[in-house]
Amino acid sequence: MSLDQSLQQNNGVIIAKMDDLLNWARLSSMWPISFGIACCAIEMMGAMAATYDLDRLGVFPRPSPRQSDVMIIAGTVTFKMADRIRKLYEQMPDPKYVISMGSCSNCGGPYWQHGYHVVKGVDKIIPVDVYVQGCPPRPEALISAFLELQKKIDEQSLLKGDIFPIAVEQ
Ligand code: SF4
Repeated sequence: MSLDQSLQQNNGVIIAKMDDLLNWARLSSMWPISFGIACCAIEMMGAMAATYDLDRLGVFPRPSPRQSDVMIIAGTVTFKMADRIRKLYEQMPDPKYVISMGSCSNCGGPYWQHGYHVVKGVDKIIPVDVYVQGCPPRPEALISAFLELQKKIDEQSLLKGDIFPIAVEQ
């Protein structure tokens, strides 16, 4: 039973599993770290502006990695930037997610063959949850990526350690 159904059938009282409550809160309030590294970032900004209004999905950019749970890699990942991206990712608290937006961050894009300065896929330096195709992808595609991410979060479980990874002794 969904949280909405539970609310309707129980006179305003919600009866739910802890996983459902946590996931509902997390997927309704996602905070991407706000930075862009090339032209795809213009479409990312478009998705967050008034016409597309990503806020209505509960997505609102934050200025610090410490306050963020989503990283959107919107642009060309050069070797010079790679280390900075990894550091910012490591500064984000768990649970955290990554959206790779556009051909450049997916696989090197137009620099795939001869771009000696470009990492051929941001997933070579950090784990990626959702890939968005395009050069650049339109704002609708980024919105669709957030909907995919919401589905993924909804299927995670606190008990299984998906939400807060269980520390494994080395
Ligand atoms: Fe620019 Fe295309 Fe690369 Fe996006 S995928 S950063 S639009 S070259």
